[in-house]
Amino acid sequence: MAIIACPQCGKKISSRAAICSHCGIQLGEASEQDLAVFEARRLRERIYRLNMISYGVITLFVAGFGWYWWDSNGFAQAPTAGPFVLMGLAAAGYIVVRVLLFRSRQLRKAMRETPGLGSDLRRNL
Ligand SMILES: [Zn+2]
Repeated sequence: MAIIACPQCGKKISSRAAICSHCGIQLGEASEQDLAVFEARRLRERIYRLNMISYGVITLFVAGFGWYWWDSNGFAQAPTAGPFVLMGLAAAGYIVVRVLLFRSRQLRKAMRETPGLGSDLRRNL
């Protein structure tokens, strides 16, 4: 077994891989099971990424609130618009991320309930 570059995305993969684990291109005889495992892994990574982004936007919101406090001298004066813009963008981003996360989790639930899945696929979900 050797490490080669994927012909489509150029990332490093095993020479024996039937599917590139990065971009999903089929390189050889990929079974239904291989494809299902790839989809499951991609879904898991997507859910992980969305979780990280949701923590990021929460941090931005908190930063916006801190800015609000700083800008208004401890809420004594009217602040500038900046903190509200940041908090508004963070709140909107949070809602978008939660919707995407909800949809990905629904998809994962549907995959888990598909009859006839092998145990290695279930491990990937
Ligand atoms: Zn690739």
